Amino acid sequence: MGDSKLKKAFWDDLPKGFHHRRLGTKSVGFEVYIWKGEPGQVVLANAGTHGDEYEGPKFLISMVNSWRPRKLRGTVVVIPVLNEAAFIAGLRCHPKDGKNLARSFPGRPKGSPIDQIAYLFLKNVISYSNYYFDFHSAGVVYEIAPWVGFFTHPNREVNRIQKKMAACFDKYWCWSAPYLPGRTASAAYELNIPFIYTEGQGGGGILPKDVKILSEGFFEFLKRFDFIKGRQRKLCKQYKRISRDPKETFVQIHHKAPISGMVDLQVKLKEVVNKQQILGYVYSLNGKFKKVVKAEMSGTVVFLRRKASIEKGEGIIALAPIRDKL
Ligand SMILES: [Zn+2]
Repeated sequence: MGDSKLKKAFWDDLPKGFHHRRLGTKSVGFEVYIWKGEPGQVVLANAGTHGDEYEGPKFLISMVNSWRPRKLRGTVVVIPVLNEAAFIAGLRCHPKDGKNLARSFPGRPKGSPIDQIAYLFLKNVISYSNYYFDFHSAGVVYEIAPWVGFFTHPNREVNRIQKKMAACFDKYWCWSAPYLPGRTASAAYELNIPFIYTEGQGGGGILPKDVKILSEGFFEFLKRFDFIKGRQRKLCKQYKRISRDPKETFVQIHHKAPISGMVDLQVKLKEVVNKQQILGYVYSLNGKFKKVVKAEMSGTVVFLRRKASIEKGEGIIALAPIRDKL
């Protein structure tokens, strides 16, 4: 899988050991860290696709600083922060073009900064990977009931591997849905590369628990897929939800603010709610409006706005159609 290779990857000629390269043009680029082992498959992991998500960068930067395996089969490629300008600005999207990197794949070589990053990453890195992980979180504006997810793939083998990859993050619940365009996940999907993403809690900070789950999950993957040797953990049974609706996991588009103003939430993260239950209010700043936001369906709160100020059309809450305790 992922072996429709036109030319060699830039790390193919590197000797065994740990390497660091910067990939980019004058205007855009990112730092790539490579652990080269015995001949074998390539696993890619990145974080910082969105610039205000910190759990993934924290895990990958600590891995870059401390992981020096004595024995490794294959190649491990890590990019702790893919969207550098957004990261430094502390923003979800790129500060120059305002675009979302997770809606910009496959990108363009001569487009805006985000288009160029997507293109550069896809053509030089993703295309040469056999397995791919993208670590996200709720960012500074939201909070999430952390999960691991993937696009359900029509190729049964890709799907089987994705399930096996997701199972390594056994402290998270698992949420899969059909394909949507523009994401890192979409690029992997189109190349038949098994892919999973994680969503940490976010809320502007870094929960040590989330970083630990990423680390345990990724190293469990490395063992189970024969990159490194070591005792495999007994995995916990994950709660799983497989959706047929591609919009279900697209959490930003549900319960949008009817007006700009201030949000006053009436529910908590992971709370089980009923259809039509009041989730919160949005107050206009001129005191004229108090709009009620009601649950579009019954389910569990898995995505919740933390920032009280809101613009009309921005998402407030997303529910997963589950009633189980997460
Ligand atoms: Zn993200």
